[in-house]
Amino acid sequence: MALTIINEANRCLQCKVPMCQKGCPISTPIPEVIKKFKENQLMDAGKQLFENNPMSVFCSIVCDHQAQCAGHCVLGRKGSPVHFYNIERFISDTYLDRIKFGTIEKKDKRTAVIGSGPAGLTAAVILAMNGYEVTMFDDNDHMGGMLRYGIPEFRLSKTIIDRYQKILEKLNIQFRPNTTFGEALTIDNLFRDGYSSVFVGTGVWRPKNLGIEGESLANVHFGISYLANPGAFTLGENVAIIGMGNVAMDVARTALRHGAQNVTLYARSKRIAASEHEMDYAKLDGAQFEFGQAIEKITEEGPVFKVAIFDENDKVIGYEEELNQVKADSTILAVSQAPKNKLISTTVGLMGNEKGLLVTDENCMCTVPGVFAAGDVVHGSRTVVEAAEEAKRAAMAMIRYMEEQQ
Ligand SMILES: Cc1cc2nc3c(=O)[nH]c(=O)nc-3n(C[C@H](O)[C@H](O)[C@H](O)COP(=O)(O)OP(=O)(O)OC[C@H]3O[C@@H](n4cnc5c(N)ncnc54)[C@H](O)[C@@H]3O)c2cc1C
Ligand code: SF4
Repeated sequence: MALTIINEANRCLQCKVPMCQKGCPISTPIPEVIKKFKENQLMDAGKQLFENNPMSVFCSIVCDHQAQCAGHCVLGRKGSPVHFYNIERFISDTYLDRIKFGTIEKKDKRTAVIGSGPAGLTAAVILAMNGYEVTMFDDNDHMGGMLRYGIPEFRLSKTIIDRYQKILEKLNIQFRPNTTFGEALTIDNLFRDGYSSVFVGTGVWRPKNLGIEGESLANVHFGISYLANPGAFTLGENVAIIGMGNVAMDVARTALRHGAQNVTLYARSKRIAASEHEMDYAKLDGAQFEFGQAIEKITEEGPVFKVAIFDENDKVIGYEEELNQVKADSTILAVSQAPKNKLISTTVGLMGNEKGLLVTDENCMCTVPGVFAAGDVVHGSRTVVEAAEEAKRAAMAMIRYMEEQQ
């Protein structure tokens, strides 16, 4: 590992206009970090990565590197790009346990963060590093959001999230688990109790249903519910997955690791929502793919499909008359997720769009003054690095807002 990443660092051309940095959604200063790494300034490099992106250690593992930093490296045009994410992973992982914050000047203002996924964690860290007293709430019993309850263990070890928790302790960030906002507590209660501003990073946790017959049968499950705790489910040997997005790929790979023998993903069209590499890995793990299958209903035997007829451009132009009953012990629906509506329904003035996503302005402020939001709850299911980038901007806007309120 060490030799590999040193070789990678030595291959970096230190471009004046680094395309890799342009390809990174949070503009990681890649050449500068590589320079520090080569000069044995590991802690400085770690500090720079962390201050630019508090989620760096996770991004280095779960980002779509081919589409972002590595995919933009000029060396990749004629050969192999610099695999910076491996260098970033080494630096940020090493830095994680050694991070020190020094003396932080206290601002004597309390701020709340609802949701402890990548967006909430990023906002909490930035606010605490700027001297604000932060309380973070989450409806789950552990922090991490989709880092812990969505992305499977074989892709992202939960021990990294446990180690990350130490950073929050060092910053005196208070954590209230098992606390759902929009039930016993509301955003209004926070202002009543002296919080100067509120950050919302509650993500998208309501699996979308298809509105078809059979969705409530005992052997039918939702993808994100399954991923939250795969050990709690008995799927049997033959598993059918409806959908071909990234979540569906994770469901397939997890089911294969939990005893399923035959796992098949079904999609109506020939267009795949998942990224290419996620699909390649699912194929390597043994998942099968069936295209042109439009789900009609689910029976106890398994899903029933209408079989699509394609034209020469692979466009669906109709369906065969006969339905296709597939035999499966379990059927998992992994089509998409939407936000729960608890916050909107319990907060006067908090507006969502037609999809239930929170409406924000250019400063990430919601339609209620002092309430800010970022991440999936604003845009729908996206990525860790995008949630971190937006939460960083939201936290800076919160700081400006709280300074103006003096
Ligand atoms: C299976 C799966 C695989 C993925 N793989 C990748 C990947 O490889 N790479 C990548 O970049 N992205 C991936 N993503 C997407 C990525 O995880 C999300 O974009 C990211 O986690 C969004 O961060 P967030 O903080 O906005 O929301 P979340 O991570 O969803 O966190 C929201 C938090 O808020 C809490 N919450 C919700 N409602 C309330 C409430 N009312 N009160 C209190 N707390 C509440 C939730 O419990 C959760 O902890 C994946 C997503 C899934 C589902
Ligand atoms: S944050 Fe993601 S895209 Fe940016 S340099 Fe790191 S791994 Fe690459």
